[in-house]
Amino acid sequence: MTVLGRVVRTGMKVTAAAADTVRRPVPGLVVLIYHRVGGHTATEVDLPLGLFSDQIAWLTETLPVVSLTAGLDWLADPTADPLETRVAITFDDGTADFADAACPVLERFAAPATLYVATEFVEQQRPFPHDGTPISWSALRDCSASGLVTIGSHTHGHALLDRLDPALVGPELDRSVDLIGERLGVVARHFAYPKALMGSPTADAAVRDRFDSAAVAGGRANRPGHTDPWRLARTPVQISDGTGWFERKARGGLAFEETLRRFANRRRYSGATT
Ligand SMILES: [Zn+2]
Repeated sequence: MTVLGRVVRTGMKVTAAAADTVRRPVPGLVVLIYHRVGGHTATEVDLPLGLFSDQIAWLTETLPVVSLTAGLDWLADPTADPLETRVAITFDDGTADFADAACPVLERFAAPATLYVATEFVEQQRPFPHDGTPISWSALRDCSASGLVTIGSHTHGHALLDRLDPALVGPELDRSVDLIGERLGVVARHFAYPKALMGSPTADAAVRDRFDSAAVAGGRANRPGHTDPWRLARTPVQISDGTGWFERKARGGLAFEETLRRFANRRRYSGATT
């Protein structure tokens, strides 16, 4: 990362922390998004293995870490304590480092996680952007055999559903669900919108029809009794979070950072389709 990039990122975190002092973070289910682990690529979301391991160790010692399904059950439970914080760990895309680096750590700390897979990249062994080597179906099978990893859908071709022809949305989602079923023998019950960009009304209906939950952006905790499961807010984890900012995020803090980033990304993704 450039010096300027680092200054901007830190500035966003400091601003978000200041916003937290004005409006206290709301507790609830915090859904963390990881992308890559191992630090083999030059992206801000490729965490060094040691940092990832420290974060998962801290999480499992400090907060209830739950599977996404258990988290959703808790959100729907009318007796859930609204002052409690729970954390669900999620990963996007389906890169090889998930099996090589992330899974062993999740297993060491018995931390459940959900991996949303863009199936076309795995099926065709097509590299993801930013040097992302796709995971193989057999490595995915090994990961899910631990019982800790849930496989969700991230569309087939990492399609941005707000700009895909509405007639193609259903087939795009079905292709991904079918492949996960055929190759792994599991039903994909959870969905994450690529780049956390919400779909058109048609896409929203298609997603609600097929999945039990859908993750968008948000950067804040999801409150029990006040959460639409198809609009689950997620909180991205970056290298620059280190451990200090990370601990705030895991408690539902720094939500304003995500608001700032969404604003910047709207321009960045304006011409993209995947
Ligand atoms: Zn993605």
